[in-house]
Amino acid sequence: MATILPSPPRVGMVSLGCPKNLVDSERILTKLRSDGYQMSPDYAGADVVLVNTCGFLDSAKEESLEAIGEALSENGRVIVTGCMGKEAEAIRTRFPNVLAITGAHEYEQVVGAVHDAAPMPPNAFLNLVPESGLKLTPRHYSYLKISEGCNHRCAFCIIPSLRGDLVSRRPDAILREAEKLVEAGTKELLVISQDTSAYGVDIRHQPRMWHGTEVRAHMTDLARELGKVAAPVGGWVRLHYVYPYPHVDQVIPLMAEGLILPYLDIPFQHASRNVLKLMKRPANEAKVLERIHKWRDICPDIAIRSTFVVGFPGETEEDFQYLLDWLDEAQLDRVGAFRFEPVEGAAANDLPNPVPEAVKEERYARIMEKTAAISAAKLAAKVGRTLPVIIDAVDQDCGATGRSQADAPEIDGEVFLRDAGHLRVGDITPVLIEEADDHDLYGVPASGA
Ligand code: SF4
Repeated sequence: MATILPSPPRVGMVSLGCPKNLVDSERILTKLRSDGYQMSPDYAGADVVLVNTCGFLDSAKEESLEAIGEALSENGRVIVTGCMGKEAEAIRTRFPNVLAITGAHEYEQVVGAVHDAAPMPPNAFLNLVPESGLKLTPRHYSYLKISEGCNHRCAFCIIPSLRGDLVSRRPDAILREAEKLVEAGTKELLVISQDTSAYGVDIRHQPRMWHGTEVRAHMTDLARELGKVAAPVGGWVRLHYVYPYPHVDQVIPLMAEGLILPYLDIPFQHASRNVLKLMKRPANEAKVLERIHKWRDICPDIAIRSTFVVGFPGETEEDFQYLLDWLDEAQLDRVGAFRFEPVEGAAANDLPNPVPEAVKEERYARIMEKTAAISAAKLAAKVGRTLPVIIDAVDQDCGATGRSQADAPEIDGEVFLRDAGHLRVGDITPVLIEEADDHDLYGVPASGA
């Protein structure tokens, strides 16, 4: 006689915020799936809904609160996790009916809360989690979190108070995860953390055995080994959130060799020493411009992406002009700019000389104009070249959208292709660049591709 198994509970997930939060969501879902839960793509089919919140900026907090409200009205059974977990009281005051509130990377607590809210029926026949875990990003790229927390105390940032000091993962565990992801179809590994260049400092760079070799818990060793893991499928390894410490120079030759992508995401935030000091930024003493020139000598194609904050308290017109001149010299490939926004709990809020809103707006417009012009010129120089492009989507009209090595998903530009109906998502293919605008490229698969 056949055994009729009871159907397992279904969990819905709303994941807000940055890629680091997305990785937390993936971990939580992987654990729940391995415990036998099923996932629900909508509110209606879920026995309980998890909202993984972001509390980095006040606007992100408001978005998180709205998401909690929506999940409550659509489903009614809601568990809150993520950065906003630190503000449980505020959440409870506004939404007394949430079932449980847990903090960022409290995986066991949030999984425990799901078990309490929607217990597994006895004898559930499950354990269907794929070896690589469950992913919320498309199959062809994956975020790989190498550490959690941060030892710095930048004046505008509350991440250390939300997520604690740096805790690095073992290098062999990261490499094993990378290997599984590549086996499961990942073509691009996006290395993330709060501070990638500090990886391993907390565990004294302790080496671990990996495929018969010792690998130190150090950014350079890890980047090299990740490059080797991705190489058999021609895959890409991209480094995010790198601070310009001297040892960053060691990964540039790996880029020149083609082991990892010639791409560095360095959140400089400002160039003026005065503002960097007020911001309490790490590694601000380095002669950054000189080093950028050296990096370009070693690896001419290196794309440098950065973010900048304008209107930080104490930023004078002179500081801001210095930043614009610095950008002229640095010729960064990709730049994101933000107007300073006080975040509840950040030390910067108590600094004197706040910049008036109108001045912030005016500086923001000036930096955007400057960086768009630099980006447009850099992209125009790529017209006529054939560049490798990873395909993110193929449409019904034989067009495709992809990214060059200089473009990380979601945050950088795209490459729009014509006559590309034969390509598949995840292909890495040579593309002849035909046109460019301020942020994107346009091209056609190179003949034979
Ligand atoms: S380096 Fe600074 S901005 Fe980045 S997470 Fe640490 S404290 Fe925040």
